[in-house]
Amino acid sequence: MRVNENILISSLTTMRLGGPARYVLEVERPEEIPDAYGFADTYHLPTFVLGYGANTIGHDEGFPGVIIISRMKGIFETPTADGVRLKVMSGEYWDDVVAYTTSKGYTGIEGLSLIPGLAGAAPVQNIGAYGQEISNTLESIDVYDTANRTFVTLTKSDLHFGYRQSILNTTEKNRYFVVSITLALKPGQMSRPLYRSIEKYLSDNSITDLSPASIRNAVIAIRRSKLPDPLTEASAGSFFKNIFLDEAGTEACESKGYPVHRTPSGGKLNSGWLIEHAGLSGKTFHGIRVSDKASLVLINDSATSYSDLAAARDTIIGKVYDLYGFWLEQEPVELLPPPRPAQPTPPTGATK
Ligand SMILES: Cc1cc2nc3c(=O)[nH]c(=O)nc-3n(C[C@H](O)[C@H](O)[C@H](O)COP(=O)(O)OP(=O)(O)OC[C@H]3O[C@@H](n4cnc5c(N)ncnc54)[C@H](O)[C@@H]3O)c2cc1C
Repeated sequence: MRVNENILISSLTTMRLGGPARYVLEVERPEEIPDAYGFADTYHLPTFVLGYGANTIGHDEGFPGVIIISRMKGIFETPTADGVRLKVMSGEYWDDVVAYTTSKGYTGIEGLSLIPGLAGAAPVQNIGAYGQEISNTLESIDVYDTANRTFVTLTKSDLHFGYRQSILNTTEKNRYFVVSITLALKPGQMSRPLYRSIEKYLSDNSITDLSPASIRNAVIAIRRSKLPDPLTEASAGSFFKNIFLDEAGTEACESKGYPVHRTPSGGKLNSGWLIEHAGLSGKTFHGIRVSDKASLVLINDSATSYSDLAAARDTIIGKVYDLYGFWLEQEPVELLPPPRPAQPTPPTGATK
């Protein structure tokens, strides 16, 4: 286990904001995970598990505790009746996993190409793109349970996946350290209908091959044409979530001509469309620019503090709310210590 002290969170996150973390521990083997939590216990410090930092925002005051990062590597393949089971250690870079599976002709995650981050974070918000989500192929995850201090396996049904959601970022937030993820993949290819932008790319380039490698190339080309590269432009990808509507809300939006994508329970309204039609694309607030190619994406051109980002975010949310009556929800996680337990209330009439 590598122990680092006073590391700027801005250097560990792709939005490049945030003050110093007191300790950053990098674990290279599962056996080191209990030691990392033991280290935090010894000094009574809070912990936060970080991956590549592509969906996490640091705060100016830093983190007065222990950040733990998985550096565990390995992709282990076993054959199944109709394909393969792939166990991936949480420190693998996600896109390397997609490169591996597509090179072998396995379908299931090719649409998730070029999403920045580590494999361990992929189930946390159920990463998704171009019609695929990791929940479609994930079988189980091996985790360290910090509540019981044991290693356990959670199955897909334990994780209660939803849109950008699982128990790992809702009811059981910060409880589990993901050690590895297990995917079930098959040889084959995506079936039509494909996501509109993929279909357009294939037809514009006269490509008829739908193999995983071909779809991966298409997704990479599309993403490179509109999304910032975290190595050269600071961002956390989509900063706002899309909006899910019930049937009545869907009909109301459709009657106003808003672009709603029908789902089995209602519809999905593209928050990027709201931002664009509010005239915010390309605009800069407090050093934070709304991408003119993908309006959900905020790019940090010159902001140096969390408060700049918060002010920009709140301006955008306020403008969209004033025009459309929808309150946008932030997607990235904030790197903060857990809230202090509530102080017991003194009994009535008690004196100090
Ligand atoms: C340019 C860009 C494009 C993006 N495009 C997409 C997209 O198309 N679709 C999409 O879904 N997302 C997208 N994202 C968001 C991001 O890439 C994903 O959320 C990714 O999974 C984050 O991985 P990470 O390792 O950086 O996670 P981090 O930001 O480091 O962590 C995210 C959350 O996961 C938790 N976590 C991390 N590792 C572990 C672990 N081992 N065990 C337990 N919890 C852990 C953290 O505590 C935190 O709550 C994009 C981001 C950028 C910058």
